[in-house]
Amino acid sequence: MNEAANDTLADAPTAIPLSALPGVVGSQRAEQFQKLKLHTLEDLLLHRPKRYEDRRRFSRINEAIPDLPTVFRGTVQSVSLKKTHRRRLSLVEVLLGDETGELICRWWNQPYLAQQFQANMELLVYGKPSISKKVTVDQPETELIDEAEDITVHLNRIVPIYPLTKGLHQRWLRDFIWNTLEKYGHHITDLDLGIPFSSSLNRREAVQQLHFPQEMAQTIAAREYFSQEELLTFQLKLQTRRLRFTQKAKAPPCENSNQLIQPFLKQLPFTLTKAQLRVMKEIRHDLNRPSPMRRLLQGDVGSGKTAVAAMAAVIVIESGYDAALMAPTELLAKQHFHTFERWFGPLSINLGLLTGNTKPPAHDSEPGLTIGTHALLEDNYQPNQLGLVIIDEQHRFGVSQRDRLLKKGHYPHLLTMTATPIPRSLGLTVYGDLEHSVIDELPRHRGDIKTYVRHTNRLDRIWKFVRQKLEEGRQIYVVYPRIEGTEDDDIKSLQSELDKIKEQIAPFTAHWIHGQLPRDEAAQVMADFRANQIQVLVSTTVIEVGVDVANATVMLIENAERFGLAQLHQIRGRIGRGRHDSQCILVSHEKNEAAQKRLKILESTRDGFAIAEHDMKLRGPGEFLGKQQSGLPQFRFADLIRDRALVSEIRSLVRTHLGLSHQPK
Ligand code: ADP
Ligand code: MG
Repeated sequence: MNEAANDTLADAPTAIPLSALPGVVGSQRAEQFQKLKLHTLEDLLLHRPKRYEDRRRFSRINEAIPDLPTVFRGTVQSVSLKKTHRRRLSLVEVLLGDETGELICRWWNQPYLAQQFQANMELLVYGKPSISKKVTVDQPETELIDEAEDITVHLNRIVPIYPLTKGLHQRWLRDFIWNTLEKYGHHITDLDLGIPFSSSLNRREAVQQLHFPQEMAQTIAAREYFSQEELLTFQLKLQTRRLRFTQKAKAPPCENSNQLIQPFLKQLPFTLTKAQLRVMKEIRHDLNRPSPMRRLLQGDVGSGKTAVAAMAAVIVIESGYDAALMAPTELLAKQHFHTFERWFGPLSINLGLLTGNTKPPAHDSEPGLTIGTHALLEDNYQPNQLGLVIIDEQHRFGVSQRDRLLKKGHYPHLLTMTATPIPRSLGLTVYGDLEHSVIDELPRHRGDIKTYVRHTNRLDRIWKFVRQKLEEGRQIYVVYPRIEGTEDDDIKSLQSELDKIKEQIAPFTAHWIHGQLPRDEAAQVMADFRANQIQVLVSTTVIEVGVDVANATVMLIENAERFGLAQLHQIRGRIGRGRHDSQCILVSHEKNEAAQKRLKILESTRDGFAIAEHDMKLRGPGEFLGKQQSGLPQFRFADLIRDRALVSEIRSLVRTHLGLSHQPK
């Protein structure tokens, strides 16, 4: 079957190395191409122009519009090189004229440019004009023209402008690609992916339109063609691997005897939300299948993922297997342990806790659940028959750690959970080999959370509000970006603020917690906060994950501009866990409108997926993912923001094609 596109390509004529082409052989060109990651003819044909210039007509200088990227065509009138500021800066100015006026091009600190231009040269200039006395374009891109030579390739058409590297010039590359297309264009054939492709173009036309389109609209059609091709190729590879796994791996059969699951559900102290029920159904369905579950569960903080995980564990345990739940911190592991003690105790299900500080639980032949930290990866954790691995806050773990835990059983089921919603298109790419479940509903009867973006100059009033809440009996989180201060006074730290806070809130008490506290001390601080011995917890982002204290209802975050939106949303999730209304106050000294607007997104929504989409748009997929980005493929054409609908469409298309899609009835 379609062993993915690569094999087809390897035999294709377009697989010729560029270094073998005339004009490249034995020259430095091959090296320059390598720098641009262009190795084969195929790569060259897919070298994506960074933009296009419509050189069928040019803008007149006297019609220049400020800040609008424009191409002008004119004749060089004069060239000058000036030294300014006590000769520290050089400035090259080229005066360009057309039939309507004159324009100044300026470059700083590139004195050699003065030699490149001479009076009477014909020049194309691309940049953003500014208009004062004269029209000026700073740091423009330029191209010399030669009317006689340029007639077909470089003029009178829509022209591609390529990313370049040192020594490789725009005109040479454009000529080269033009000639290569003339010579080899007929070798370009559609990839045989085995899946219908929705485009009115064939591949050859798409390549042609990518480089030398007749109309601008064709460049969009070409881009869409190749993003489709990329996404299809990628998903085919991923899902084919998944298919092989499904065929090879035999899951521990979990018949779902209902012996424990019914009493478990009955004694939960709340009614499950619709979303929880739906996801439980999905998981139950997976656990009944012959191949192991591989599922990612996304759900905003507080959406109740733990109960869903517990249900999965109960099913596996009643089928006679062990389950393991791994959490990223000792704090979280312990918190889970306490929760599960309450839920599993009445059912007499075996429960163990394993962290760096605890001894491994005594070996027991009865199946049960072990909750732990990374300590579960160590050799002294040896479950009898591991049937289920649950990973909480999965983005805190690497794939290798996940696999190490899985290896302690024979193809156990896997449920990974995250409270950091990932935009769907990104999730289906980076975690494309997993099934996805989403809890998109919060339990009702929670207090409301209101969010306020405030300037630092309002801090007095904010602290007054905090004191009032303390007097009402509530507890408070205060978050700073740093533990210690630096020279940068703009960033507050725990160290610089703790004493001031203590003064502000006396007679109430404040204590700090951060990632560098000894473990015992951190655990003690948390216990004291939970017991309301401490009313104000001053913290770094360590409280981001999992901490659950219902009486803490105010979250004050300083230097809020330093955090990503998704992260702020996570931190905010610590409040709004009880019946009281909660307030999240984002404090920033940033006056700049964009920064304010960014934070205001949090005022307007509590939908984690919407916030994640915004965050990804602002920072790009790579930054958004941070440490998790190892699974992010480098697409040349596909864009996970623009093509988000296409991503999920193609993934389902491929999965259906391979017979991988299965949904609970
Ligand atoms: P998260 O998805 O962030 O891990 P948790 O599982 O910790 O959320 O649940 C947050 C809180 O909500 C816990 O105290 C939990 O017991 C409670 N909870 C979970 N499901 C429900 C529900 N359906 N109704 C009411 N409370 C619930
Ligand atoms: Mg949780």
